[in-house]
Amino acid sequence: MIDSKIDILKIRKDFPILNREVNGKPLVYFDNAATSQTPQQVIDVIVDYYENYNANIHRGVHSLSQEATDAYENAREKIRNHFNIAHAHEVIFTSGTTHGINLVANGFTGLLKKGDEILVSAMEHHSNIVPWQMLCERTGAVLRIIPMNREGELIMEVFHDMLSEKVKLVFCNHISNALGTINPIKEIIDAAHKVGAAVLVDGAQAAPHIKADLQDLDVDFYTVSAHKMCGPTGIGMLYGKSEWLKTLPPYQGGGEMIAEVTFEKTTYADLPHKFEAGTPNVCGGIAFGAALDYMNAIGFEQIAAYENELLQYATSELMKIEGLVIYGTAKEKTSVISFNIKGIHPYDIGTILDKLGIAVRTGHHCAQPIMDFYQIPGTVRASLSFYNTHEEIDKLVAAVEKARNMLL
Ligand code: PLP
Repeated sequence: MIDSKIDILKIRKDFPILNREVNGKPLVYFDNAATSQTPQQVIDVIVDYYENYNANIHRGVHSLSQEATDAYENAREKIRNHFNIAHAHEVIFTSGTTHGINLVANGFTGLLKKGDEILVSAMEHHSNIVPWQMLCERTGAVLRIIPMNREGELIMEVFHDMLSEKVKLVFCNHISNALGTINPIKEIIDAAHKVGAAVLVDGAQAAPHIKADLQDLDVDFYTVSAHKMCGPTGIGMLYGKSEWLKTLPPYQGGGEMIAEVTFEKTTYADLPHKFEAGTPNVCGGIAFGAALDYMNAIGFEQIAAYENELLQYATSELMKIEGLVIYGTAKEKTSVISFNIKGIHPYDIGTILDKLGIAVRTGHHCAQPIMDFYQIPGTVRASLSFYNTHEEIDKLVAAVEKARNMLL
């Protein structure tokens, strides 16, 4: 069954955490959509930074500062290259997806007026809902929802009908964290551009599985978090087209983002520094670059093929359990299985799985509108990564079966 294109035993040796036990059982980690694990190669880069060249960047003439600056800017270049971004100054380091979305939402405050429309998909993470609601409160713009069907696919005919010259912004995730749906973002971007609307794609769940070509997509903004793709927490990237980044005002004021400061007036630094106020997460940025190196060395096509095989296997095995319902059955989907067993609260299943060493997420997954749509309190979510195995899926299925028998 195992795809020979991926050397799973070798890969698993790279992740020290996979050797630990939880509640006396070997850890089985299926919470990858929340945060992925970190390979030794990335941990080594973090240790090397703090042992050898920890320094503040961009403003020091001493060697350590220059080494740290070079490594940080080299990481920006790796990110540019990975996402096929035209210019390094279009790569803004952020603390993660949430930060990137808030930066854009804040920047549009002066650009919208009462009655303008913002379209947002029905399957967004709260990070891609709340900042737009706040923007609407500030500007009088109206948030309209692109609906989805029971399978968890956007109803594209309705989306096309909703488009008009009133629509100024469209927001959608590339992949849903709660359902695993891969959204037709190219179609969304092209259609939105025809009415003059800008598009922000939340790539938090796509970046660990798909190598997105941002120039080909022609997207206006794209956000990712490194901690979902083998990197550390507290670092991510916002891509913005140059024209947009030049138009939007800075999000935060402080050091690093200025050209000149007097008490009368401040002028801002050029891109990308205009949006990078204060001392950045230098080590995080460098480690983000190392995480991309690690994943690219395995190969995103191999990763996608293997994860797809795992997804099919896990879906068919879980479906054999009586009363188990899967939410999110889109034709285009990846790596996430959200499910419930009739008559059992998801939290109770999650608690029993944890006792057996299996980490899954339970609850609304920061996507309460999706839970409202299905009229459920939450789901159990198993999210897969390329370091998971068929044997781990067998353990998950046996554990869910056991939980079912205990709880019903
Ligand atoms: N968007 C999606 C689709 C996500 O899955 C997540 C995190 O789970 C986020 C945004 C928020 O990411 P972060 O907490 O790293 O800012």
